[in-house]
Amino acid sequence: MKIPVTNQDVLEVMSLLVSDPQVASALRFLEGDNENTVRQQMEIAAIPAPTFGEEKRGEFYLSRLGGLGLDQLTRDAVGNVYGIWRGTGQGPTLAVFAHLDTVFPVDTLLAPQIVDGKIHGPGIADNSRGLATVLTLLRAFSHAELAATGDIIFGATVCEEGLGDLRGVKAFCQDFPELDGFIALEPGLHGLVTYECTGSTRYRVKYNGPGGHSFNDFGQPSAVHALGRSIAQIADLQVPSDPKTTFTVGVVQGGRSVNSLAAEAEMLVDLRSTSAQSLSELEAEVVRLVQKGAEDENGRWETDGVTVTAERVGNRPAGRQSVDQVIVQTAAAAGKVLGITPFTQGPKGTDANVPLSLGVPSVTLGCAGAFGGVHSLQEWFDPHNAFFGPQQILLTILGLVGYAGHSKPLLKERMIDR
Ligand SMILES: [Zn+2]
Repeated sequence: MKIPVTNQDVLEVMSLLVSDPQVASALRFLEGDNENTVRQQMEIAAIPAPTFGEEKRGEFYLSRLGGLGLDQLTRDAVGNVYGIWRGTGQGPTLAVFAHLDTVFPVDTLLAPQIVDGKIHGPGIADNSRGLATVLTLLRAFSHAELAATGDIIFGATVCEEGLGDLRGVKAFCQDFPELDGFIALEPGLHGLVTYECTGSTRYRVKYNGPGGHSFNDFGQPSAVHALGRSIAQIADLQVPSDPKTTFTVGVVQGGRSVNSLAAEAEMLVDLRSTSAQSLSELEAEVVRLVQKGAEDENGRWETDGVTVTAERVGNRPAGRQSVDQVIVQTAAAAGKVLGITPFTQGPKGTDANVPLSLGVPSVTLGCAGAFGGVHSLQEWFDPHNAFFGPQQILLTILGLVGYAGHSKPLLKERMIDR
């Protein structure tokens, strides 16, 4: 779906930026740096970085961030690495991050191979592309001596994938409550702007009962039957289609043998929505039905033999914002002045979930290059014309934080206690 650029102020700033000689030199630099960037992308992809095991890649990345003009290079307590590109004055603070981790176990063969101009290797796109893009952006800022008004925090997070549960970006947002904007960099065609975030909540639910022989102990409650009662009621839940809200019991296990009353049963439940409110309403209802399944089973046999615990094992907050938000319009207008059609593919789950859920304007931008097979061993990346992504991202960043002496920051400083 195309994103219309309706904000004329934003479009004016973008037209001014793209015709400025220094900015134009930065854009040309990005084109010339494409090959170098892709080489670095391959270097990064070769270093294992499973979620919760990002140290080695983080160390390498921190060394690459060095010497690129960043202030206060940091590796924080959870393993995020970043530094600050200092602005010249009073302006908004913007964070630009890619994620270090991949879904591949540490013993996966990662070394990328070039075949017919395409690069094949697990993680070559997600998110070595984002990590390499941060580095080329910094080189472009330095090369063209671009003076930003606000501060830009460039870096990389840990634990974006799977059970990492956005641990890295959660810690970062806690350390930087003064953040005014956030850009997550991910694989995606140039022009891709994601501005809505799917939230997800996951539960591990365990039922325990007395167990026993299916014939001799008949009359006692069963953990599996309690689980079944809960699932039947969860399966009948009604959820809104807009905002899209979904549920599934993805995994069930339990019981020991066909002739036993089950002493234990377990399920994994996945709940999602683009609306934080719909998600928390659904969550409350599911937690209630989890309890109710156990109560109904106990009621059937007039005992209290079955107990249940529900442990939340995943929490990615949802976030929505209008397409008219300045951060969305700025990213879209940056594409437009470069002759790129800005578009969205609907809500996604990325690092941007967390800041957006906290009220910080946030987008996820595609770093360009064609790609496929993400999260599989067949992952590939095509570097042809991939510089369009970094170009659009550079204009977006500069527009948001302000180009000192040329354009006022488009991003508002949030009214919070500092
Ligand atoms: Zn990713």
